[in-house]
Parts: sequence; structure tokens; C-alpha cells
Amino acid sequence: MDRPRITIFDTTLRDGEQSPGCSMNVQEKLRLAQQLDRLGVDVIEAGFPIASDGDFEAVQRISALVRRPIIAGLARACKGDIDRAWQALQGAARPRIHVFLATSDIHLKYKLRISREQCLEQARESVRHAKSLCADVEFSPEDATRTEVSFLCQVVEAVIAAGATTVNIPDTVGYSMPQEYGQLIRTLREKVAGIENVTISTHCHNDLGLAVANSLAGVQEGARQVECTINGIGERAGNASLEEIAMAMRVRRDRYPYETGIASEHIYPSSQMLAEITRVPVQPNKAITGRNAFAHEAGIHQDGVLKNPLTYEIMTPQSVGVPDSRLVLGKHSGRHALALRCEQLGHPFERRELDEVYRKFVVLADRIKKVQDIHLLELIEEVKAAGKKIPPAGAGLPFTRAASAAGGTNETHSLSFPAPVPGGASPGVPVAVGDHHGEQEDYLWGV
Ligand SMILES: [Zn+2]
Repeated sequence: MDRPRITIFDTTLRDGEQSPGCSMNVQEKLRLAQQLDRLGVDVIEAGFPIASDGDFEAVQRISALVRRPIIAGLARACKGDIDRAWQALQGAARPRIHVFLATSDIHLKYKLRISREQCLEQARESVRHAKSLCADVEFSPEDATRTEVSFLCQVVEAVIAAGATTVNIPDTVGYSMPQEYGQLIRTLREKVAGIENVTISTHCHNDLGLAVANSLAGVQEGARQVECTINGIGERAGNASLEEIAMAMRVRRDRYPYETGIASEHIYPSSQMLAEITRVPVQPNKAITGRNAFAHEAGIHQDGVLKNPLTYEIMTPQSVGVPDSRLVLGKHSGRHALALRCEQLGHPFERRELDEVYRKFVVLADRIKKVQDIHLLELIEEVKAAGKKIPPAGAGLPFTRAASAAGGTNETHSLSFPAPVPGGASPGVPVAVGDHHGEQEDYLWGV
């Protein structure tokens, strides 16, 4: 059966970076962009080049370094912004110019002080200009969900005629309800000429906690791109969370029969890397990536999970790259285990670079019995500070790929975790208890 492919557009480096306390420098953005590549996102919105020299440089350097995903640069609907974005994207293998212009009356009246006619003309003109530079053009009518629907249809039709290839429908202020948002996507598909030739995208904010629900409702009505961020960071209450979207589609394939390119075992390392870079910790009960997302405290739950994970787990921690905390990193651990834990902590190393970390690790493990994550992070910092200068990973294969392969049959990045059976686990569902709760998994840490 052919499952539609959903384009995952990550805007952690742009919308996410706009959230208070989450600004990143160019080096940090480069590191995260490489991690997003590893995670398998389809589009990286690398920045807003006109906004600052730092943003410009980030887009430029990410374009040069990260070659697989599309790299998008944001621009307001004016020539100066678009030219600047295009300049920053020059080195990109697959550049995209993302133009936005508010369309709601409240934005037109109080923010832009232009009429609807002027708005329509500016949208058309800017897309035409962007298209003269770049084949891949995305247009966002900002505050789309508070825009009068017939005017929104008019704008979308105009930008498609002007050459836009993706039309994004932002719920900029996080005001929509899932059914309403889905209905809006459906209306656009019904009323706008030429819409069948472009990709419809969602961009939902979380002010009412509905960003993910709204995005999924959009997908069910035909949107084929979702804009989202790691840990759901973003303006105010944030954006739709990438990990929640990806795992909702994976765990509930029965309801959401779509594919994404996300390599889910890189979800947790990506979340950790972002938290470490921004020093903004993940909320403990955050779905998928929170510290407690896979913790079972109640005795009856623990008992159930040990007997059969399906009693209380709808996905395995391993499937999203969460380390099994029962596995201890000590002096008997091999470098494969060390490499894996380093990656889970947001520091993927290549073999050559790992040597130095490993050397220090062995010395430390000799001194203190149990090396905790905090020790390991200190050690990594130490190695970096020692002028050994570990470059951001990504050049070449991340070591942990090799580590996974070498981990042998116990390695359990369970991408093919069985879909849960409606109404509970049936005896027929194949469950390898050893998959992530068995004794032999300790072996992973001793390779
Ligand atoms: Zn936004």
C-alpha cells in the first residue's frame, strides 16, 4: 500500500531560535543542523538572513555543509529580504526561499498598514521575484487562520500563479482548533485553482496546546508538509513538536497512514543536543523526549512492563534513542557503548575523535566506579577545552552507526516496533521481552 510521504520541515534554527533564551551562535547552529540531517528531516529552515549578520552567516555555512536536506532561508515579502536570503543560500545544494506576508485584517490594519489589494499585489510580486531567483519557493500568509477565508483563497491562488511550489498555512497565534484547521485546509483544496500542483504545509503554534493536533488534522485533510521544531520550541508557547508528530504517525500508523524520513532513534539525541546548546532543559513530562516519558514509577506498572513492555509502553525507549538508564557505564564498557552514550548526550564522535574521549573515560572509570552522564559531559567538555578541538561531528559517518552494527543482535533500534493492537496487547503480537528489558542487553554496554 502506498503511504503518502510527509515532508518534515524543521524550523528549530529559525522559529525555535526566536524563543526566549534559545538563541544560538553560528557554531551551535552548524552542529544542530548536522544533527537534523542525521535525524532525517527533509527541510532545514536555517535562519532569516536579513535579520542579522549572524543569521546570514548561519544560513550560508549550513548551506555549504549540509547537502542532503533542502535549506530554506526566510524573507519578508520585499526585494531586499529576498535578495539577501538568496545570497545566503548561494552555496546550497537544494535552496528554498521562504517568503511570508501577513494576510489577516488585524495584521494588515495595525502592523503593515496596507489594504487587502496592496497585500495581494505584494504577495504576488514578491513570489514572482523569488521565483526569478530560485525554483523552490514557499509562501506563508502569516496569521492565515485569522484571515478571512475568501481573501486567503485569493492570496494563495495568486502566489501559486506567481510560481510558489509550497503554500504554508500558519496558525501564527495558536488560535485554531483541530477540526477548524483541518476544515481550512480542505476549503483551500476545494476552492483554490492550481492547489493540486503545490505542496500544502502546516505551521501551528502551541498557545492552546494544540499545535500537534492541528498539524495532524491538516495532514488528514491533505497537507503534505509539516513545519515543526525539536522539543517544540518556538515563539511563545512554541511550535508543533517534531518528535510528537513523527511518533504519532509511527505508533498510530492505523490512523495516520503516512511516511516520514525521520530516523526515530536519533530523536532523543537531537533533543538532548538542543537542550544542551540552549541550556533550556526539556520539561520532564514532555512527550517522547522528557526525562519521565519512559519512566515507570508505580509498582504495578513496573511489574507489568517487566513482564511485557506492551502493558504500559506504546513504543520502546530505544525506538526514539532513549538510553536504558539501568545500563551502567563503567570501566568494563567498551568504546561502542561509550560512543552510543556520547551520541545520546548530543555529542556524536567519529572513531578518531572518540579515541581521546575513550582514553580519558578509562582513566575516570578507574577512579570512580560508575560514570554518570554528568561526569561524561564534563569529560567531553574537558577534552574540547584541552585544545584537542573536536570538530562538530558530521564529516563522514557518525560513529554510532558503526557502533550499532557492531552491537550485534542485541542492538535494538526497534524501528519496526509492532503497531499496538486496538483495545490492548493481544497474545499474537510478537514481543521480544529481551528487546529492551532483557538481561542480555547489558552486553550492549560491554562491547
Ligand atoms: Zn511560527
